[in-house]
Amino acid sequence: MTIDTADLKRMFDTIAVAIEADKDRLCQLDGVIGDADHGIAMALGFNAVRDALASLDLAATEPTALLNTAAKSFLNAVGASSGPLYATAFMRGAAAVKGKAALADADLIALFQAMAQGIKDRGKAEPGEKTMVDAWQPAAEAAAAANVAGKALAESLGAALAAAESGAEATKEMIAAKGRSSRLGERSLGHIDPGAASAVTVIGAIRKSLS
Ligand code: ADP
Ligand code: MG
Ligand code: MG
Repeated sequence: MTIDTADLKRMFDTIAVAIEADKDRLCQLDGVIGDADHGIAMALGFNAVRDALASLDLAATEPTALLNTAAKSFLNAVGASSGPLYATAFMRGAAAVKGKAALADADLIALFQAMAQGIKDRGKAEPGEKTMVDAWQPAAEAAAAANVAGKALAESLGAALAAAESGAEATKEMIAAKGRSSRLGERSLGHIDPGAASAVTVIGAIRKSLS
């Protein structure tokens, strides 16, 4: 399968719809261990991306340029911590596919891995610190492993989604060590991290749109 800029645009549209539908739940999760704005922040970001991509001439746009446009619009729209984290993800993704007119399965997996690494680098969070990294990193590892094992893209992204889901679930047992919820210390125990929860929604939408 080859993925072009029209497919990437459709992917961002699918993410925006999924996040919009999940907005209230994400705000509720953030309300428990944060400041209750995570759903609003993510919806603002992905709706801004959707609007920005709608005005691109897709036939004259390479994947790198589309992803950089996504990064810029997400960053400009979001004041919360998730703004620079996802903007960096898209910027790193853009760099990972530089010069390519269309993406093969392996390129998409590389893009996905670059996004996860970008979030990790930007937030300086390690796995186990109760952040979106606890969903993104195992997802990227699972996708890469499936791809190396010769699986088709749909299956690799399915593996990524399953890993993200268990990663997000596991944040319940973690004490927050990064971001706003780290101020709660042990009181953050027992609650899912909102950024890990939204990562599952984002990854689920990526899988849905590309398979
Ligand atoms: P804010 O805390 O500024 O209101 P959001 O509510 O949009 O931002 O996002 C909160 C989420 O951001 C957290 O649930 C966590 O997953 C993620 N996060 C916060 N700080 C970091 C970090 N340093 N590294 C990775 N993810 C982080
Ligand atoms: Mg918040
Ligand atoms: Mg906030």
